[in-house]
Amino acid sequence: MNEFDLIKRYFQNGGLTPPVADGIELGIGDDCALLYPSADRLLAVSMDTLVADVHFPAQADPALIGERALRVNLSDLAACGAKPRWFTLALTLPDMDKGWLAGFSQGLLRVAREYDVHLVGGDTTKGPLSITVQVHGEVEPKLALRRDRASAAELIYVSGTLGDAAAAVKSFSGELNTDEQSLQHFLNRYYHPVPRVQEAQTFAPMLSAAVDISDGLLADLGHICERSNIGALVDLDRLPLSSALIKSFDEKSAVQLAASGGDDYELCMLVPQTVQQQFEDAAAALGLQVSLVGHTTNQHQGVKALFRGAPAELESIGYQHF
Ligand code: ADP
Ligand code: MG
Repeated sequence: MNEFDLIKRYFQNGGLTPPVADGIELGIGDDCALLYPSADRLLAVSMDTLVADVHFPAQADPALIGERALRVNLSDLAACGAKPRWFTLALTLPDMDKGWLAGFSQGLLRVAREYDVHLVGGDTTKGPLSITVQVHGEVEPKLALRRDRASAAELIYVSGTLGDAAAAVKSFSGELNTDEQSLQHFLNRYYHPVPRVQEAQTFAPMLSAAVDISDGLLADLGHICERSNIGALVDLDRLPLSSALIKSFDEKSAVQLAASGGDDYELCMLVPQTVQQQFEDAAAALGLQVSLVGHTTNQHQGVKALFRGAPAELESIGYQHF
């Protein structure tokens, strides 16, 4: 099987739709994909690379790797309030492992179907295992969620629970001792992050800014502060923790994972006080847990945190500026 057979067998038609569908004049198989962007929408473009043994264990189930590669990219579109349309895939493979490719493409295309986003091209090379996905989405210009539009005295909300994926990463290095059920919960959160795509589009008119939590809440919120030239005060006692996290760690370690652990791909959202009720009602209608964890300030000193009511030493809870 050569490179072209590989593409045909595992990725042609994105494995899902009729060849001409959803704004696609031409998909996989030519020099370029030819696409019809919607009128009056901004094209939202984002790319993430996953390197074996850096971003995922090389020996992990290929279907899970495929799922995660697309999910983390869709999370970036969610964080901009964009609707996913198309994606491309750059695959670097050490060898032509058919079992691995079948699993990988199944996982990847399963998520593509779930989020109605279509694979329209890519590149295939030989080398150490690495996966790059570029997603293309669309968003109404006025509703694009940006990091540089937050103001002081706004409310900071996060979706879901935090710290679970970081707990899974601890298990990879043998640093986690917990029961089987909790471990499964953490692994599921790591391999199946749920990009909040639909929810973010619903919330967009109510938000001043948003970011998806890939590097840890404090770090990612720090990006909003920097870009918007504001400060933030986070009450660490309010961070939403899963029961598995509470069961598996002492309180301080659990809070540390939730504040600084990455890979959860939940949303951190900035909500002006005037729309707080509307925002909470919308979240309730969607059945999405959202937690108020702090507010923004006009002090341009980045993110400050309170723990048990007292200022927390961010270094001591694992916050890294660099
Ligand atoms: P070119 O030589 O013109 O760059 P390629 O031979 O790299 O084209 O790829 C042929 C076609 O297969 C192109 O349409 C490309 O987008 C697609 N393709 C290559 N690799 C992948 C991949 N991993 N996933 C999806 N499509 C791919
Ligand atoms: Mg070409």
